[in-house]
Amino acid sequence: MTMDRKDAARALRTVAALLELHGENPHRVRAFANAARSVERLEGDLEELVTSGRILEVKGVGRGTAAFLRELVEGRTPALLQDLMDRTPEGVRELLRVRGLGPKRVRALWRELGIQSPGELEYACLENRLVELPGFGPASQASVLEAVRFLLRARERWLVDEAWSEAEGLARELGAGGGVDRVMVAGELRRGSETVGFLELVVVGEGTAGAVLEGCGLKPVPAGGALWEGRTEGGLPVRVTVAPPSAAGAALVAATGSGAHLEALEQRAVSGGLRLAADGLFSGDERVAGEDEEGIYDRLGLQWVPPELREGEGELERAAAGALPELVTAEDIRGALHNHTSDSDGTATVEEMARAALELGWSWLGIADHSPAAHYANGLDAERLGSQAARIAAWNAGGEGRRLRVFSGLEADILPDGTLDVPEGCGECLDHVVASVHSAFHLDREAQTRRILAAVRDPRCRVLGHPTGRLLLARPGYALDLEAVLQACAEHGVAVEINANPHRLDLDWRNARRALELGVKLVIDPDAHATGGLADLRWGLAVARKAGAAREDLLNTLDDPLGA
Ligand SMILES: [Zn+2]
Ligand SMILES: [Zn+2]
Repeated sequence: MTMDRKDAARALRTVAALLELHGENPHRVRAFANAARSVERLEGDLEELVTSGRILEVKGVGRGTAAFLRELVEGRTPALLQDLMDRTPEGVRELLRVRGLGPKRVRALWRELGIQSPGELEYACLENRLVELPGFGPASQASVLEAVRFLLRARERWLVDEAWSEAEGLARELGAGGGVDRVMVAGELRRGSETVGFLELVVVGEGTAGAVLEGCGLKPVPAGGALWEGRTEGGLPVRVTVAPPSAAGAALVAATGSGAHLEALEQRAVSGGLRLAADGLFSGDERVAGEDEEGIYDRLGLQWVPPELREGEGELERAAAGALPELVTAEDIRGALHNHTSDSDGTATVEEMARAALELGWSWLGIADHSPAAHYANGLDAERLGSQAARIAAWNAGGEGRRLRVFSGLEADILPDGTLDVPEGCGECLDHVVASVHSAFHLDREAQTRRILAAVRDPRCRVLGHPTGRLLLARPGYALDLEAVLQACAEHGVAVEINANPHRLDLDWRNARRALELGVKLVIDPDAHATGGLADLRWGLAVARKAGAAREDLLNTLDDPLGA
């Protein structure tokens, strides 16, 4: 094979970057960087120069880099390159593609903060973890965040908060056009899925909507009838169904349900002598329902099925028996237990967080800042925890404290041996402890399970925080016997968190459903690091609904969540 000099230069440059990333000898780094430049500008046949050994006469190429080039020219992956690749997680190599990040800064992010992928980097920025890191600061954190988001936009699935913002942007634009009555969000987003591959919208209007759709850059799907396709401004693929008001409900049903849900609905229609289509429910040629969803489900002898449950997992049998759960709603929420302040790694004070919660109409707010082991997050020792507790008591004693009670809690690290990181003497003065894993993700399944079980059995533990440690599109959860953990939570009266941060949504809805079967109480926690973060609760609410949670299944709906 012939080795292109551009490819050879790229391989040399990769080695230079990875050597630097691993903190190796700067001379060696420079040797590979220099060789890359020389090879790129090389005149003559690279292969011939390398085979004859005359490559050593080229300025910038030394013994080590010449040997490296020889392996390349012979069609092998050089041993050094292979070794470096093996020692560098793929996600860490991807970090080098974030604009503004060189090997030194990627090394700091990886070694100091344990960041191993662009998704984790984005999350760390949102938690303000780059601010204190040498070589970074508030301004560079903001530019890193912007750059990593740019990189992430190129991926295939989207987090729900970004997808909603794309959907709302496009819906506004479409809704402002002539001939459009309303725009409805359907698809995975409406079903409360944890990530989204593409948007589904239903545009209701009387036939003149085409120009509006074109104006938004959408194109009719060939032979697709009322279907249009395109991308949102941010690049998310979108499919739009156009429907007249008389068929709006049918279009929404068709654009919302999973394939399995829709198949089951169609079969049910057929066995009742009807036919379900995207423009209505028909008996022969006569449309018997279609204007709204309720009419269609009703005509099929079913309760209206909340969108979150339309996954084709037995919901129609329950709807036929009138046995669907009454799902928890936003109006049922009184507060949340796990939120941060500027005392650890948040950006707002206790009082600012409390006022933001009041504005959301909550009647209580749990503060749970980091514990001392989370030194990267400015975790609180006994003294600072005491000072925070005093400020919380002052709030509760004041006028606003009568409208919103603040609970003084702690997000205690679960140490690798399962001990809760609660400072000496603070156990009794705290209202609640949220126990979370923030380190030693790589323990094997047995050790990780033992560790978390020990934490759950500690009588101080009220909530198990982000129970699997996953970051959506960035990091899988740690190895864990979750079933054993959920059973222990049921036994010891520990609530399991649905972390509502759109990067986590952990516990996920399938496991949350299992937790409910076991009689475990759930708590939706925004894990807010700023006042605006409290509103993230809505993403966790979608997960709880998707798991089939009713009001009584959640601590969030209680007036006194920490009562006996
Ligand atoms: Zn945490
Ligand atoms: Zn937290």
